[in-house]
Amino acid sequence: MLANLTIDSGRLWDMLMETATIGGTPKGGIRRLSLSDEDRRVRDWFRRECEALGCTVHVDTAGNMVAVRPGKDRTKKPIAMGSHLDTQPTGGKFDGILGVLGGLEVMKTLHQAGYETNSPIALVNWTNEEGARFSPSMVGSAVYAGVYSQAQMDAYKDKDGVTQGEALDAIGYRGPEKPGSLGFQAYFELHIEQGPILEEEGQTIGIVTGIQGIKWFTCAILGRESHAGTTPMAYRRDALAAFAEAATEIRKIALDHGGLATIGIVSAHPGSPNIIPGEVRFTLDMRHHQDAELKQMVTKARVAIAEASTRHDAAYTVEPLQDSPAQPFDETCIAMVRAATEKLGLKAREITSGAGHDAMYTARVCPTSMIFVPCAEGLSHNEAESATQADCGHGAQVLLEAVLAYDVRG
Ligand SMILES: [Zn+2]
Repeated sequence: MLANLTIDSGRLWDMLMETATIGGTPKGGIRRLSLSDEDRRVRDWFRRECEALGCTVHVDTAGNMVAVRPGKDRTKKPIAMGSHLDTQPTGGKFDGILGVLGGLEVMKTLHQAGYETNSPIALVNWTNEEGARFSPSMVGSAVYAGVYSQAQMDAYKDKDGVTQGEALDAIGYRGPEKPGSLGFQAYFELHIEQGPILEEEGQTIGIVTGIQGIKWFTCAILGRESHAGTTPMAYRRDALAAFAEAATEIRKIALDHGGLATIGIVSAHPGSPNIIPGEVRFTLDMRHHQDAELKQMVTKARVAIAEASTRHDAAYTVEPLQDSPAQPFDETCIAMVRAATEKLGLKAREITSGAGHDAMYTARVCPTSMIFVPCAEGLSHNEAESATQADCGHGAQVLLEAVLAYDVRG
């Protein structure tokens, strides 16, 4: 039987606003780069809050902080919640932070009610989710899931040449535990959507079913530079004209498959008003929540580039740059989030995540799902990022219900 516990959205909001002053910017955002002094201060705050609730705070060698509240059955692995407290250089007050503080609010609610769960409950603050100071992103959860080694994580440098390992030691957050040694039964992550869909449709909760697959390519179309005034149209090998046709076709491919295609960087050479561009270099980012569909999109994009190049008597290259497969979430975890929205009578829809999250890596090692709440205009990675107290509260309540449902499941 599930207890009827209610989180305190005002208390959650106060925590969001209180911690927003650590690295707070004049424009109302947060600058709290991973492993900076601001990161240390918010970590210290987080540790104090968790310890005050009787949690034990474990820190692993990757600096991931895992606060554990004991359950009745000490042989069981914890059911975990979490996200990240680091931000972009001009980040907002909610990205990542809502997941950690929403989890903390769940812990406070359990503590206040004196509610004893069967399994231990854990709350994680992952190291360097954003990848803003040290690339790549989501490194703490990646080490946790065995995707990167500790040595790889330690070796990455920031733009000043400081290694991630040095920065971790400098703020005193390299713990003794091996990442992943404290396995989780399941992991739930609350996060703002970072896109416009929920707000646009007037939905309160996004039941996240997975994270999209992402493929990146660097491409080139190679025609021939020639004089803009003396080369008749029929004689041109115009790389930019070929590019334009391919780009239009690629957009259509994404629309046909219900996926996404972005050409984010384009450069035409040699770059003179009266020279027909002989060379165009560009990036291509394609995404879909189903790997099979994504593969088809990529095949068609290659054909589009090939055909456009041929029409303009140009050569072309398409080189893979990054390949991250789609990560579907666990059916049981998804069902528990859905059931929570039904119990609470919240307007909700299924959604896939367009962005990467720590949950992408935890999903490789334990049953995982996510809960999204709307953010104003879908804006994120921006100091103006905003979400309402009510929506943050609903998200934390769904998180609580999902965790408790997982705890009592037969
Ligand atoms: Zn985030």
